[in-house]
Amino acid sequence: MIDINPRAQQHSDIRQAIREICRAFDSTYWQSIEEKAGYPEKFVETLTQAGWLSVLIPETYGGGGASLTEASVILEEINRAGANSGACHAQMYIMGTLLRHGSDVQKQKYLPPIAAGNLRLQSFAVTEPTTGTDTTKTKTFAEKRGNRYIVNGQKVWISRVQHSDLMLLLARTTPIEQVTKKTEGLSVFLVDLRQNAGKGLTVRPIKNMVNHETNELFFDDFEIPADNLIGEEGKGFRYILDGMNAERILIAAECIGDGYWFIDKARHYATQRVVFDRPIGQNQGIQFPIARAYANIRAADLMRYEAAQLFEAHQPCGAEANMVKLLAADASWEAANVCLQTHGGYGFAVEYDVERKFRETRLYQVAPISTNLILSYIAEHVLGLPRSF
Ligand SMILES: Cc1cc2nc3c(=O)[nH]c(=O)nc-3n(C[C@H](O)[C@H](O)[C@H](O)COP(=O)(O)OP(=O)(O)OC[C@H]3O[C@@H](n4cnc5c(N)ncnc54)[C@H](O)[C@@H]3O)c2cc1C
Repeated sequence: MIDINPRAQQHSDIRQAIREICRAFDSTYWQSIEEKAGYPEKFVETLTQAGWLSVLIPETYGGGGASLTEASVILEEINRAGANSGACHAQMYIMGTLLRHGSDVQKQKYLPPIAAGNLRLQSFAVTEPTTGTDTTKTKTFAEKRGNRYIVNGQKVWISRVQHSDLMLLLARTTPIEQVTKKTEGLSVFLVDLRQNAGKGLTVRPIKNMVNHETNELFFDDFEIPADNLIGEEGKGFRYILDGMNAERILIAAECIGDGYWFIDKARHYATQRVVFDRPIGQNQGIQFPIARAYANIRAADLMRYEAAQLFEAHQPCGAEANMVKLLAADASWEAANVCLQTHGGYGFAVEYDVERKFRETRLYQVAPISTNLILSYIAEHVLGLPRSF
């Protein structure tokens, strides 16, 4: 069968290796995990042990020393194979915060075991129930007392906490009323989840539309050693923003992988399914939406490489990273709709996987950043339109 991704020959060693792993975790595997609302532990462990989730860690710490483009190809191929990167992608997109802003001691302590697959850094706690996207209003507060910080507050939608050893936490360390700029006074901590069960951190799972392990977190005099502060106290918002361009590009690659999966699935079904004595794909009413969705995925894919190359060259890439996330999430959602429509009633049947992927790809319009917030970034920072909030 022809590969609809014209870049399939680029990074072909990575693509082949990921496809090989994903073959062992087929449709039946994902359906059985979803049926029991379980976590794809074996899949994540296989990727971990093969070193694919620590590729962004430099080789000096035992990691793969890969580029962001290569990392994006890994996530693309996972989603392209019908699997879901959401179970394990965070280790890639939050790694930059530890790499760029962590101390040498922190990096020596944590990076080698993460690279060896003995520790997971898969959780990132930013969102709060009462502040939502307005991150600088973060209320969770970490108060320094001697060599510890005492944390009180609440987070929501914090994913993979139950399957991660470490979590990055954003908390206020100076009250908002006492800072000159609202982006100041926020700090990032590396929380060791292993030693903290029942010690002031309560984790309450949230049932949701996709089979995604995500939780409410309640901090009640929860202690973090001062050594686990990342970088300088009060500068955490900048560290988080720094990592967001990488996050946007990697998430876009997942959308692109989904898009190719939906297009492939739709064209296959359109070729096989015979109604009115001919394949439904012979009708242009079926062909055109598939072709249009494909064109949009290809356009987003091009933008992904441009954004990743700028990032790797340490050039400003906020505009491209945001735009590719927007374009890719829209294109994958369009492809999902087209794929479901092409399948008619069978699109709703669990055994075809279309309805599962449909729900999974819908999430990218909201998390980790919602579409409106990206549009407002483009309007304000790229086009110079007046600031709206
Ligand atoms: C399954 C799942 C997993 C998640 N995992 C994590 C995680 O691991 N860690 C984490 O920190 N967070 C996580 N999130 C949270 C996610 O990042 C947020 O849901 C997302 O950023 C949107 O925030 P919100 O839900 O509070 O929406 P709100 O901020 O309440 O916004 C609601 C809607 O209003 C729109 N809106 C808000 N303000 C404006 C404005 N000024 N102009 C125009 N439109 C506006 C938004 O775009 C959005 O569509 C997850 C969410 C989900 C659903």
